[in-house]
Amino acid sequence: MEVKTSLLDNMIGVGDMVLLEPLNEDSFIENLRKRFDHNEIYTYIGSVVISMNPYRSLPIFTPEKVEEYRNRNFYELSPHIYALADEAYRSLRDQDKDQCILITGESGAGKTEASKLVMSYVAAVCGKGQEVNKVKEQLLQSNPVLEAFGNAKTVRNDNSSRFGKYMDIEFDFKGDPLGGVISNYLLEKSRVCKQPRGERNFHIFYQLLSGASGDTLSKLYTQLSLTLHLTPVLITPNAMQIVGFMEDEVQSVLELVAAVLKLGNIEFKPESRVNGFDESRVKDKNGETIAYYARDALAKNLYSRLFSWLVTRINESIKAKTRHKVMGVLDIYGFEIFEDNSFEQFIINYCNEKLQQIFIELTLREEQEEYVREGIEWTNIEYFNNAVICDLIENNQNGILAMLDEECLRPGTVTDDTFLDKLNTICAEHQHFESRLSKNSKFLTDHSLPHSCFRIQHYAGKVLYRVEGFVDKNNDLLYRDLSQAMYKATHSLMRQLFPEGNPAKVNLKRPPTAGFQFKASVGGLMRNLQTKNPNYIRCIKPNDKKASHIFTDSLVCHQVRYLGLMENVRVRRAGYAFRQPYEPCLERYKMLCRQTWPHWRGPARDGVEVLLIDCSVPAEEFAYGRSKIFIRNPRTLFTLEERRRAC
Ligand code: ADP
Ligand code: MG
Repeated sequence: MEVKTSLLDNMIGVGDMVLLEPLNEDSFIENLRKRFDHNEIYTYIGSVVISMNPYRSLPIFTPEKVEEYRNRNFYELSPHIYALADEAYRSLRDQDKDQCILITGESGAGKTEASKLVMSYVAAVCGKGQEVNKVKEQLLQSNPVLEAFGNAKTVRNDNSSRFGKYMDIEFDFKGDPLGGVISNYLLEKSRVCKQPRGERNFHIFYQLLSGASGDTLSKLYTQLSLTLHLTPVLITPNAMQIVGFMEDEVQSVLELVAAVLKLGNIEFKPESRVNGFDESRVKDKNGETIAYYARDALAKNLYSRLFSWLVTRINESIKAKTRHKVMGVLDIYGFEIFEDNSFEQFIINYCNEKLQQIFIELTLREEQEEYVREGIEWTNIEYFNNAVICDLIENNQNGILAMLDEECLRPGTVTDDTFLDKLNTICAEHQHFESRLSKNSKFLTDHSLPHSCFRIQHYAGKVLYRVEGFVDKNNDLLYRDLSQAMYKATHSLMRQLFPEGNPAKVNLKRPPTAGFQFKASVGGLMRNLQTKNPNYIRCIKPNDKKASHIFTDSLVCHQVRYLGLMENVRVRRAGYAFRQPYEPCLERYKMLCRQTWPHWRGPARDGVEVLLIDCSVPAEEFAYGRSKIFIRNPRTLFTLEERRRAC
């Protein structure tokens, strides 16, 4: 029998992976490839959307498409990110449920584009009117502002987000947008001073200098001073003004960007005296190194504080006074396995472990709760729970972050290697005592490890971390005299960014470490997400050439594995793939049976039962819940659809 619906088409593979026969990694990837070759970049796993980056513009994001997907049931049309956005929005508007859209995938997989598609879809379908349109415009324009300051060209992505972003879009009871709140996570500030080969600094630096070119550009670099008058002719200042920045604020921000550039051009020579930096008189080679170190620390700190200030300022402008429901959109860096993995990768991968954990918890919990609610028997599904890895990293007593903090606070000589020694001793000890429980068996010690490295078995694979810089990056300290110098500045935004430089407010308590802060903010994020109805978009990159039409099996396979997609399909297939309330089910298929057509008198549940028996659908294919019919295999649904069409 040839069944053709939007979800099942032999030519372009299956639209929902739960329909795949046989189901294995090869068939999974083959299905993605088939669809990709036919420009079908979206595929479902139940309600999860897999999104392949097409690396070219496809005509599937038009206003007509928006209309097509508007108010339609999730499985009615071919898979699309709009279907997910529509489902989430309607659930928020009609059922009063807070939503979150969780977008994951590696760098360049299409997360940020996906988040913008969701936002623009919601903006297109929700309320109209002058006030509402202004809010929408502000929310949408916050994207280019943050991208200018937080994105950069990297080897993997020409517009790579170098920070994690979570945005709550706030709605009123009618479902009209009122405003939004943005949280940012860990800007990669090291990029300010040093970019890997073939990569660039944050976009804003180039935008700032875009008026000049060639020779003048290099001159400008050295001549830039804080008093230079910058004419805001760039796109970013316009977007900033739409978002709500005053003209003088835009100017101040650009001046500080220029200040960072200028810092980069300050040079220290032995015995020289540098204007404005009285304390940095450098006497010897050794001192010179310290001066450069301090200069870079200041540049990084200044830029990342400016970035945080921007986020706070945007929030002041877009945050609603009241709100009824929210839709959170999370666009956060995916799992990273590089050749050289440092503190940043460690932190990013920790965040991804937490997201995976919440994915497992929420997917399974959702399924489980619905079954219980509907009175349907639930059989436990075996799955890999990555809680042990999270614990290895975040445990308050002997987690890696706690040990790093302990080491950073310890008096005496602290180096990256003393930290590693501690790690090896404590984690290995655990391994010894608790090997039966294999508590810390995710911390891999073996003698083949390169010098100064440790290895963790993440859910997504093994990652080798080099400890160099861990202590320093975690400490994240700025010399007090530098903050004081910044506080003395006449530039009011500069002063504002270094409040600890105020001599009247000397605080001897050291600021929290970078790891501690990140753990706290990720914890807060997880608690927030747990209160919402999750919607997942899993982004996949088809090749590492940023090229269209190329599908590299091995690369896709790697991502399918670490996104845990096979596991996801299995969980979905182990239970009932589809479920639908009785009334719409009866309404849709009642013409297939004489007894139910044209009207069924009696409870809808009984009508559905009569109908299914009449259609000779095997009993094991169904379970009758309290309010919904549960369909084990979507094929059954397609058979019904086919018959309906033939009617
Ligand atoms: P990520 O945020 O996952 O690192 P991006 O969303 O920035 O990746 O996508 C990287 C690039 O891929 C974009 O700049 C764009 O060129 C291309 N891209 C991503 N998604 C799409 C899409 N849906 N259609 C066309 N091009 C896309
Ligand atoms: Mg991005």
